[in-house]
Amino acid sequence: MKLDILVFGAHPDDAELGAGATIAKEIANGKKVGIIDLTRGELGTRGSAEIRDREAAEAAKILGASVRENLGFADGFFVNDKEHQLQVIKMIRKYQPNTVLCNAIDDRHIDHAKGSKLVSDACFLSGLVKIETTLEGEKELQAAWRPKVVYHYIQWKNLNPDFIVDVSGFMDVKTQAIMAYSSQFYDPKSKEPETPISSKNFTESVNYRAKDLGRLVGVEYGEGFTVERHIAVKDLDGLI
Ligand SMILES: [Zn+2]
Repeated sequence: MKLDILVFGAHPDDAELGAGATIAKEIANGKKVGIIDLTRGELGTRGSAEIRDREAAEAAKILGASVRENLGFADGFFVNDKEHQLQVIKMIRKYQPNTVLCNAIDDRHIDHAKGSKLVSDACFLSGLVKIETTLEGEKELQAAWRPKVVYHYIQWKNLNPDFIVDVSGFMDVKTQAIMAYSSQFYDPKSKEPETPISSKNFTESVNYRAKDLGRLVGVEYGEGFTVERHIAVKDLDGLI
């Protein structure tokens, strides 16, 4: 299946927190979007891998994603090496996205920067024809494919965005998708240990950051992204 956008996240919920409203907006505009989680988030203090699998499927349904897969890498311990790059390359070649979104380039959780570099490196390598890959159970070699652009969403740290997407009108669906991860986020009835992301402050921060980024560019809500190369626009009307 050919997708327009493939979103990678080190953990289930990264894609929703970092780019949920942008994903919802692109889908509303007719784009086909898939989500690939690198790990099942099995080291998370709250919940379990099985609970998070169910929550991720529910969140994907809320956003309207065409597919969601999990590569089953080791939470906390996966590395950016050939073995892991090949698994990511297989997903890029399988779905042939023009645009890839992935983790923040620098963050509090060590998997975020690791996942960011792993996916970015795999996007480059995926375009090299001499790297041969096949999907499990299939004999046919996959065609080489390099996405046109890789954008990094912003997570825990307040990184300076290179551009901001106007996501006004799509914060409700983002919030619903995040709240599908009920084991992870603020829930006054939960008996599980407190974590940095289970606080009320964190849940509220997702909203107030989007509001603040929106304020900076004259819209109601925004989601920020960084890029590794110069940003290009087709014409000046592409800018708000
Ligand atoms: Zn994460």
